[in-house]
Amino acid sequence: MNILVTGGTGFIGSHTIVELYEAGMDVLNIDNLCNSEAFINENVDAITGNKQIFICEDITNEEALRKIFSSHSIDAVIHFAAFKSVNESVEKPLEYYRNNIGATITLLNVMKSFNVYLLVFSSSCTVYGQPDHLPVTEDSPIKDAATPYGYTKQVCEQVIADFAEANPNFRSIILRYFNPVGAHKSGTIGELPRGVPNNLGPYITQTAAGILPLLNIFGNDYETPDGTCIRDFIHVSDLAGAHVAALKKLISKKSDLQVSFYNIGTGKGNTVLEVVKAFEKATSVKVNYKITGRREGDIEKIWANVDRAEKELNWKAKYSLEDAMLHAWLWEKKIRNI
Ligand code: NAD
Ligand code: UDP
Repeated sequence: MNILVTGGTGFIGSHTIVELYEAGMDVLNIDNLCNSEAFINENVDAITGNKQIFICEDITNEEALRKIFSSHSIDAVIHFAAFKSVNESVEKPLEYYRNNIGATITLLNVMKSFNVYLLVFSSSCTVYGQPDHLPVTEDSPIKDAATPYGYTKQVCEQVIADFAEANPNFRSIILRYFNPVGAHKSGTIGELPRGVPNNLGPYITQTAAGILPLLNIFGNDYETPDGTCIRDFIHVSDLAGAHVAALKKLISKKSDLQVSFYNIGTGKGNTVLEVVKAFEKATSVKVNYKITGRREGDIEKIWANVDRAEKELNWKAKYSLEDAMLHAWLWEKKIRNI
């Protein structure tokens, strides 16, 4: 099977390419490197012992995409390429709508022209907002998006559903990721945030590495056991494995549904302070932190009900939070030469 991966040099895409090769699939990676570095591709190839086909291109460029589809055999697509910063999306909504929604429309259009009808799409638990009931299932209501980024995920889900309605051969699995953390166990690929990170994982590792002076924990007055927010933190390699499981399901043509949705998390919530403690336990390195005020827009708690993914995709997260923290630390040390 030849799998086109858009955004395959990014954090989740690179780990997914590792899993695709392990499952015996071949990869064509299109990434314009707007939020990643080319050396990641080399490190992925070193892990897998394979040579991925890499094309540096912007997938909003329809003409270029058509050329790629006409010169390569493609069986299915995993579409990661998007901008992902919640804060930045508030400042640059048009860029986010163009890159996240525009690219998805362009991609579907080209897939249709070339009769490529299998798609795995990266969505997010942000579509649920603060759920009324926990753990959140796939049938929980979609809440008003708090930011343009969140809205791009909701719109893309709808675009894919409408496209499916009009194209009976099309099948898609939409994965709603919870909070990816960690890095490949080799420590040779991981998250590469540009500038000061927004997300908890790289903020912890950069604080531990002494790059940042201290971690601000945003609020300890939430209704949770220790007052800090709760998320469902999933090891990125587990998340990557869910894409292979989704592809296998699409390829087997076992589902009657044209579009299906799956929560991809561990099924367990951890507080922010528990993540810091897991890091310290796994690495024996202290994290300097202080409690500050709440971050605007943060939801209090969310974790996934993953029954559907376990049952229908035959997939389950395997790594612990401590594994994720240890692997993230191996990666941080590697890129900082510590
Ligand atoms: P990332 O930024 O590390 O990877 C995205 C990759 O896509 C980057 O390598 C970037 O260079 C590339 N890219 C972006 N726009 C492109 C374009 N127009 N053409 C070609 N390449 C382009 O992000 P990630 O964390 O790996 O996220 C992957 C997907 O998962 C995104 O769709 C993101 O919204 C979604 N997601 C991420 C998280 C998370 O916390 N990381 C959570 C939920 C959903
Ligand atoms: N968080 C924090 N300090 C940071 C970054 C994040 O306390 O420097 C908290 C944040 O308030 C949230 C959790 O960690 O409760 C996860 O935040 P992240 O931005 O990683 O993911 P998201 O908010 O999208 O779930």
